[in-house]
Order: sequence, then C-alpha cells, then structure tokens
Amino acid sequence: MAPFSKVLDLFLPPRCISCQKIVLDPYTLCQDCWEQACFLSAPCCRICGLPFEFDVPDSALCLDCALCAPPFAQARSVFPYDDFSRGLILAFKHGDRTDLAPAFAGWMVQSAASLIEECDVVVPVPLHWRRLLKRRYNQAALLALEISKRSALIYEPALLKRTRHTPVQGHLSRMARQKNLQGAFQIIGDIEGMRILLVDDVMTTGATVLGCTKALLGAGAKEVRVVTLARVLPNKTV
Ligand SMILES: [Zn+2]
Ligand SMILES: [Zn+2]
Repeated sequence: MAPFSKVLDLFLPPRCISCQKIVLDPYTLCQDCWEQACFLSAPCCRICGLPFEFDVPDSALCLDCALCAPPFAQARSVFPYDDFSRGLILAFKHGDRTDLAPAFAGWMVQSAASLIEECDVVVPVPLHWRRLLKRRYNQAALLALEISKRSALIYEPALLKRTRHTPVQGHLSRMARQKNLQGAFQIIGDIEGMRILLVDDVMTTGATVLGCTKALLGAGAKEVRVVTLARVLPNKTV
C-alpha cells in the first residue's frame, strides 16, 4: 500500500474486512459477518481437527486418523473453506490485501493455542521462486511471521525450500497431488530435534502439508504440527 493511502486511512472510518461495511475497530468483522462466519472449534479430531457434530472426549479421533494416522502430530484451521472464508482468502492471496495478515494470524494463534505450546519454530509452506516472482509475496510466510510476533515461536522462513516448480494442482486428485509433490521440498540447515509449526493459508487435500511434513521429519524434526487459515472439509462432518 502506498504511503499516501496509509495517511488517508487515518482519516477514513475502519471497514469490515469482509463486506467493507463501516465498523468501530480496524481489521475486524461487522456484526453480520461475525454471524455468517463459521469458526472451527471443539469437539474435533485430536489429530487433524476435523469437527464432530456431537460431543466427544478430547482424545477422540476421526475415522481417517484412527485407521491411518497422518505424519503430522496435529492440525488445526480457523475456518472451513466455504463461501465466506473463500472471499477473505482470495483478497489476501491474489488481491494484494497483505494488510490482513495480522488479523488472520491472531485468529490462527487462538485456534492453534495448544499446538503452539508444543512447538519451537514456525515455518511457512514455501512457494517456488518462480511463483513467488509472479505473486510477489508468499501469503503463508506473512501469516507465519505474524504468528511468531504473537507467540514464543521463532520465525524460520528459509528452513524449508520448494526445489521443484510443480504444476498448479487445482484439478488433480489427492493421489496425483501427492505424487506431483514427491521430492519437491528440501531442508536447508540443521533441524534435528526441532518441534515445528507449519503454516499455510488453505489445506485442500492435505498433499502439500504432507509433502512438507515428510521432508521435515525425514531431515530430523522431532514433530510437525500444522495450522491453516482454512481447510476444505469433506461434504459431511462425522
Ligand atoms: Zn461485514
Ligand atoms: Zn482426524
């Protein structure tokens, strides 16, 4: 944002970050949007955070995790990826609204408070340099940096590198995505024994997060936990 428009902002009333309606505090949602927004919360699967529709003990697992636990220790997200969160994320990712990162990170810290306690460093899912050039910023890195400012975690943006430019994965199945990402990540430096919080904006099939987790664990990380702003949920919760 240009400095001139920043000065202008001082004289303009704050607006809801979703619908642009005038609100009292900057970087918040208006009453209508709060009511429309769905925040993921307990009860949920202890490992992957999938919400349950009924009360269960904190230790309960979803069917997928019970049958085959993922390599990451835990994952949590602020929102399901739905019509509401999609608008916010597209503005952040493709609409140059990088100023939204602190507000989003605040919500992520709340959603993943118990995970953050178990971690030492915060690492963003990396973009390949070619995509970074095109997009100009890595939205996951902005979130990870803001999470580090709101926690005791050390921000490590250069630990995990994407070494292969993978085709856009939107149309690929879960299996195809996992195959597409094999060997796409590389660890730079010594991560032996580290407990890592991995950050991304959206978890779609989980293939990217799994690829990063496997690379981190393979290089000696003790545990990996994951926090994303939104997560694509199966059509029906369990
Ligand atoms: Zn609103
Ligand atoms: Zn689960």
